[in-house]
Amino acid sequence: MSYQIAIDGPAGAGKSTIAKKVAKSKGYIYVDTGAMYRAMAYFLLKEGVDPTDTSAIEEKCQEADITICYENGEQVVLLNGENVNAYLRREEVGNMASHHSSANPKVRERLTALQKELARTNDVVMDGRDIGTCVLPGADVKVYLTASTRVRARRRFDELQEKGVSCDIRQIEEDIASRDEEDMNRPIAPLKQAEDAVLIDSSEMSIEEVVKAILDLC
Ligand code: C5P
Repeated sequence: MSYQIAIDGPAGAGKSTIAKKVAKSKGYIYVDTGAMYRAMAYFLLKEGVDPTDTSAIEEKCQEADITICYENGEQVVLLNGENVNAYLRREEVGNMASHHSSANPKVRERLTALQKELARTNDVVMDGRDIGTCVLPGADVKVYLTASTRVRARRRFDELQEKGVSCDIRQIEEDIASRDEEDMNRPIAPLKQAEDAVLIDSSEMSIEEVVKAILDLC
């Protein structure tokens, strides 16, 4: 049986940074499910699908073959065989993913099946929004990782500043709040804490403290 660690939580809570470190320390693979939703969103945008046309999304998503592989321990997302990592963090791709494509049942069905299969055949640390509730309800360890909206906006702001991208912290805070709103209120697989998940609020914690708290749960 594979060992499964599920980490869910809102945007900017630090899930991927933490999950990567936990995976490294345990020698497990890290599966970033948000990147899969982003790859699907990227495909739909590239194909010119109208973001508000649900049936067009349902039809077109069937043409996207999304898989992942690992290069030097980093997850690479392959969309119909092509490495699309470079496009996934774009703002319009994130918006398409959270406001449109990830709410579509057909999109979720395709990606969830792939995620379950990865976790069946590998020891995993998987992060996302619905891992503990839908994808891996029987996960060995479930964590709901959150932080205040203000702290999450500040972290994102610092990250962008470091990259030399000019941005407005209030705008970032608004975007984060609206993405949370979408993720928590969609009818299928909304973001919520699984009943048996451990809540970790990282607002006042360092990365290492959060990693240690999760390792202690394993
Ligand atoms: O985590 P990340 O910000 O990369 O995810 C992008 C979007 O994909 C999220 O805003 C969310 O709408 C969607 N997503 C999801 N279920 C997951 C992971 C991500 O709906 N398991």
